[in-house]
Amino acid sequence: MNYHSTRGQCAAVGIDAALAAGLAPDGGLYVPESLPQLSAADFAGLVNLPEIAARLLQPFFDGSRLQSQLPVLCAEAFDFPAPLRELDAQTALLELFHGPTAAFKDFAARFLAASLERLRKADAPVTTVLVATSGDTGAAVAAAFHRRPGFRVVVLYPDGRVSPRQAHQLGCFGDNVMALRVAGSFDDCQALVKRALKDEALRQDCALTSANSISLGRWLPQMGYYVASTLAHQRSHGEALDFIVPTGNLGNALAAVLAKACGLPIGDIVLASNANRVLPEFFASGQYTPRASIATLANAMDVGSPSNFERLRWLYPDFKDLPAWLHADAVDDDAIRTTIRAVWAERGIAVCPHTATALCVAQRLRAQGNARKMAIVATAHPAKFEQIVEPLIGSALDVPAALATLLARPAHATPIAADFDELARVLRAAQD
Ligand SMILES: *Cc1c(COP(=O)(O)O)cnc(C)c1O
Repeated sequence: MNYHSTRGQCAAVGIDAALAAGLAPDGGLYVPESLPQLSAADFAGLVNLPEIAARLLQPFFDGSRLQSQLPVLCAEAFDFPAPLRELDAQTALLELFHGPTAAFKDFAARFLAASLERLRKADAPVTTVLVATSGDTGAAVAAAFHRRPGFRVVVLYPDGRVSPRQAHQLGCFGDNVMALRVAGSFDDCQALVKRALKDEALRQDCALTSANSISLGRWLPQMGYYVASTLAHQRSHGEALDFIVPTGNLGNALAAVLAKACGLPIGDIVLASNANRVLPEFFASGQYTPRASIATLANAMDVGSPSNFERLRWLYPDFKDLPAWLHADAVDDDAIRTTIRAVWAERGIAVCPHTATALCVAQRLRAQGNARKMAIVATAHPAKFEQIVEPLIGSALDVPAALATLLARPAHATPIAADFDELARVLRAAQD
């Protein structure tokens, strides 16, 4: 299987090269040259997430040295569960926060790290994994590469725009992980990373790769939990699941879209945005107007220019091509608060602000008479956002053990301006 850039200005490459590069050389995003066609029958007898993910990823790794290692790789990366927790007879939460940093990004970050370690040549220079984070990616990537020989992680996050526990997690690894707190927004951080990856002079001095959701190594493995959960549901209830996905950069949701485009039994897919409503606007009008992000309670989704939009455009070049099963809606902070309070009062379940956006969208669909089977994607553990959630529910949240371990370590982050030359200086100094 070959991968070409969404911008079409560079040569197609195999997946090993695409994984190592992160961003395509022309600044575009790698996409597969064709869509493998798969069906439920291809997964007969497979039950657990690692087995299902390995089967699913097989055609995407045609020609790769990793193809035969996919079962081991997936078993290593997906060593924690993604359970469906029932809310009512028609609705479940798909809990993706049982990994080491308590957010869904652990799945893909661990897969990417396991892949890149196996692809690495013994005599290669230390690779710097550069990652911009709106809160959760950075910790997941840092945890996945922490103390992995041959790699260093540099995390850029918007100073003051992540939760205190997120900030602590980002700064607590040390060793081969450096946290940079940037005086700017997440979009500024993302722009700095994109520019660094495209800068020839810098790349001469530092071996750089990216671990943002633009990386194929993050996009593809995320299909696994959608397929595993919808197959499980189909086997026991005879029907596929709709997914409501809290959406920022469109990485997670686009994995569900890709799995459906490959023929897998997935129902409707609904993108739930916070007050950064550029995607719902596009779905309503066909007008795509990226802009600066605004800060919301669901900070990991504070994205005004979703980087995976190019991949959506690759799948569906025209507005009129958008499939009828794909929808988008936006939820403001007041609705996030109301939803967190209500689900606690009604069911005794605490959800994070991101999960609450999806839950709110699901409730609107129910109010319109939608009675389909829905999985609401729970993207982070509420204890990562205790400063928001605890006052709303009036109760203290238990901290998962893995998160508690990280929070017990000391943390440090280096302040930098949202300035490319300053980032380049830091990266060059770290390379020495
Ligand atoms: C990153 C993140 C999101 C948004 O995911 P995208 O892939 O950027 O759309 C939603 N919720 C949480 C908790 C996140 O960390």
